[in-house]
Amino acid sequence: MDNNLLKVAEIIKKSKNMIALTGAGISVESGIPDFRSAGGLWDRYDPAIYASIHSFIRMPEKVWDMIFEMIEVTEGAAPNSAHLSLAKLESMNYLKTIITQNIDNLHQEAGSKNVIEYHGNAKHLVCMSCNAEYSASEFDVSSKEIPTCEYCEKILKPSVVFFGENIPLDALTESQKFAEAADVVLVIGTSAVVYPAASIPRIAKGRGAALIEFNLERTDLSSYADILISGSAGKTLPELVKLLEQ
Ligand code: NAD
Repeated sequence: MDNNLLKVAEIIKKSKNMIALTGAGISVESGIPDFRSAGGLWDRYDPAIYASIHSFIRMPEKVWDMIFEMIEVTEGAAPNSAHLSLAKLESMNYLKTIITQNIDNLHQEAGSKNVIEYHGNAKHLVCMSCNAEYSASEFDVSSKEIPTCEYCEKILKPSVVFFGENIPLDALTESQKFAEAADVVLVIGTSAVVYPAASIPRIAKGRGAALIEFNLERTDLSSYADILISGSAGKTLPELVKLLEQ
């Protein structure tokens, strides 16, 4: 057992306002590649190009090639033990909310109730022209036919935040409130370089919160963290839950 995990469990037992910021790394063990996974979706589709709103506006058909694959990968995925552990920490009343950068809905599927989706959710589609909203399940994406709006016939966009788009205002203000009030912030599976999400742990730490990072490797945030838990979140988070159950 990692001694640092024992320290984290002690900190959490005394906490009153713990939050978690999660990133693509927490879903890698569910089979959804993060931006670094070799041989995955992002090897074929450079996120700087395909995840940009400017590209979507200029060439939506090309970006939909990537979206079809992204929806296929996320639809086939189930929550892993890291997602389930965070749901457990919420039910034990330790974790007040998850702020996730992920768009895969896996925290909700794991049973977490308080989830702020900072970058939206790929299960929903939106018309950029008339704002009509759709569930992705209304369309047969396996047919590779690009979904269009029934009112204005424009190509639909997944309800996710592309590079160059604003964060939904509700998510932004709620996250800011939680970050300012937090006494502990767990930062799990994020390289912490995509802003403004990456400012959340920095705001919390600036207000005196303990910053605990769970990652396979060091990140831009590591020198700022109070404790680093190295390893896969699917292994370290269940171990943490076990310690808190004792
Ligand atoms: P990132 O790809 O930049 O970084 C992922 C981080 O997770 C890395 O630091 C990596 O070392 C770590 N990691 C990988 N596997 C891990 C594991 N098993 N346990 C612990 N840590 C692990 O991801 P990011 O920081 O979230 O930024 C990427 C952006 O792309 C986000 O805004 C997100 O919206 C989007 N994205 C989302 C998904 C998804 O919804 N699942 C997938 C890919 C990208």
